[in-house]
Amino acid sequence: MSVNTFDPKQTTTLETPVKTITKQAETAKGTGHKIGFVSLGCPKNLVDSERILTQLRTEGYEVVPSYDDAELVIVNTCGFIDSAVEESLDTIGEALKENGKVLVTGCLGAKEDEIKEVHPNVLGITGPHAYQNVLEQVHQHVEKPKHNPFINLVPDQGIKLTPKHYAYLKISEGCNHRCSFCIIPSMRGDLVSRPIDEVLNEAKRLVAAGVKELLVISQDTSAYGVDTKNKTAFWDGMPVKTNFLSLCEQLGKLGVWVRLHYVYPYPHVDDAIPLMAQGKLLPYLDIPLQHASPRILKLMKRPGNIDRTIQRIQKWRETCPELVIRSTFIVGFPGETEEEFEELLAFLKQAKLDRVGCFKYSPVEGATANDLPDQISEEVKEERFHRFMQLQQEISEERLKTRVGKIYDILIDEVDEEGAIGRCFADAPEIDGLVYLNYETQLNPGDVVKAKIIASDEYDLWAETIN
Ligand code: SF4
Repeated sequence: MSVNTFDPKQTTTLETPVKTITKQAETAKGTGHKIGFVSLGCPKNLVDSERILTQLRTEGYEVVPSYDDAELVIVNTCGFIDSAVEESLDTIGEALKENGKVLVTGCLGAKEDEIKEVHPNVLGITGPHAYQNVLEQVHQHVEKPKHNPFINLVPDQGIKLTPKHYAYLKISEGCNHRCSFCIIPSMRGDLVSRPIDEVLNEAKRLVAAGVKELLVISQDTSAYGVDTKNKTAFWDGMPVKTNFLSLCEQLGKLGVWVRLHYVYPYPHVDDAIPLMAQGKLLPYLDIPLQHASPRILKLMKRPGNIDRTIQRIQKWRETCPELVIRSTFIVGFPGETEEEFEELLAFLKQAKLDRVGCFKYSPVEGATANDLPDQISEEVKEERFHRFMQLQQEISEERLKTRVGKIYDILIDEVDEEGAIGRCFADAPEIDGLVYLNYETQLNPGDVVKAKIIASDEYDLWAETIN
């Protein structure tokens, strides 16, 4: 799980989300009272932050990039793993020291007592996606600005912490699975899908505001709509079902990159692959597999059957040869034997996934896996982690070599005095590789250019633009 940190004291790193906040704060000068905001945690939490920020802006507050200027600071916390809890508690402490008036929200907010024990002086605590409560707490401590329709211009796409050319689109909350290493269902509850018309309206607004890439996220994207029993809604004058395929079809009509994250290899996912082959969705699937040994998967209480997963991946690649698959795995899960770890390595060799992340298992407070026997020593976890990464590095290098000579659209993320850095369809922001375009200093973030791949290494590509 990636950690996105926004430090409101920092004003110099222009490519970071801070720049977005700073610019928006500047254009809104004089519009009302000032609020500082710190967002911790995964992209899903970032989307929650965006919703709160959008609402603050709508009401006429200014979002400022420093503790000093703020009348109050909101910290949106993460509580996924112990190190994230620690980071959240440290950040709350810092905000209290620097500013004094602090509201806490987000995943760690579900554990009010734990926060109060360390920081009894916080003004208020709310759990995840409690947008309305956060706003109510803000109103109690900082007077609501008088609305002025001429200066309270809310950017149509809301306030983005991500660069303005890509955006996360969160389609549901919660999760129906009960993986033994995870506490998200106990923190966030069962799956609740957002109405499809609401999701599509948001997507349309984002595209109209210049977003070139939509990153679809949820705890289980393939389960979208299951809780609503495919409820029919109306969008653009047409009936649309609240389910995974309808969502893919409709997003595929928006004419921007659509990247699917956190998809499980269920049979109905097959139906989305032709949309990828037709260029309507990016041929990219992020599938968190976590392991390949059936016994370990059972201990993890993971959905799916690994043999069928391999067959499914092969079938998908036949339908869409360009398909890039990203996955994450856990090594050193309690009880993992050397043979079971080798099963995982054999799976990697067979599946030849393009992008792979690996975590060493670590217990999370409240997770049922903590009670499993045969916990693995740190030395063994470390050793397995390195063997895993070594193998995957070789596979990744091989896969990337096959891209040399091909021509791709590259979406530019950054430009500096040495050139431009972007990504092709195979690279999700923050987690995958990059495409370097040396000497291309005239491009701008958000540009899409055609380029020929000229070199590769284990993770990244180099390319030259073509006319
Ligand atoms: S699928 Fe498993 S790991 Fe993912 S959120 Fe649900 S319970 Fe947690």
